[in-house]
Amino acid sequence: MPERSNPSSLSAPYRAGLGEGLVRLQVCHNCSKVQTLARYACSDCGTGDLGWTNASGLGTVYAVTSVARAPSEEFRALAPYTLVLVDLDEGARLMAHGHDGIRIGDRVQASFFEHAGQRLVRFVPIDESRDS
Ligand SMILES: [Zn+2]
Repeated sequence: MPERSNPSSLSAPYRAGLGEGLVRLQVCHNCSKVQTLARYACSDCGTGDLGWTNASGLGTVYAVTSVARAPSEEFRALAPYTLVLVDLDEGARLMAHGHDGIRIGDRVQASFFEHAGQRLVRFVPIDESRDS
């Protein structure tokens, strides 16, 4: 049997969500775990019974990386840029671009930008926990 589908069609709901200004997560219908990236099976219980849910776009920065040398021609125009790992309030961890000056522990909200014909996520800090 051929592969059920290729990775780009698997992630089509995610990319369609970006077009609407939404961060979408896969959600397991068996154990309710949410996960980022499109997979064939739940990373927790292994079932293939997955759907999609819209995330709030809110989260907390877990890690920050500054990228001085872009990995591809496409991203060279952006370098240097900041990548972040964000723990979304829904419980999944998402890698995306980050606003300049973003720090570990910052409360952030997803925003979106266009680059090379693709819509990408960029997290920006929000002020709610700055004084804590
Ligand atoms: Zn599961």
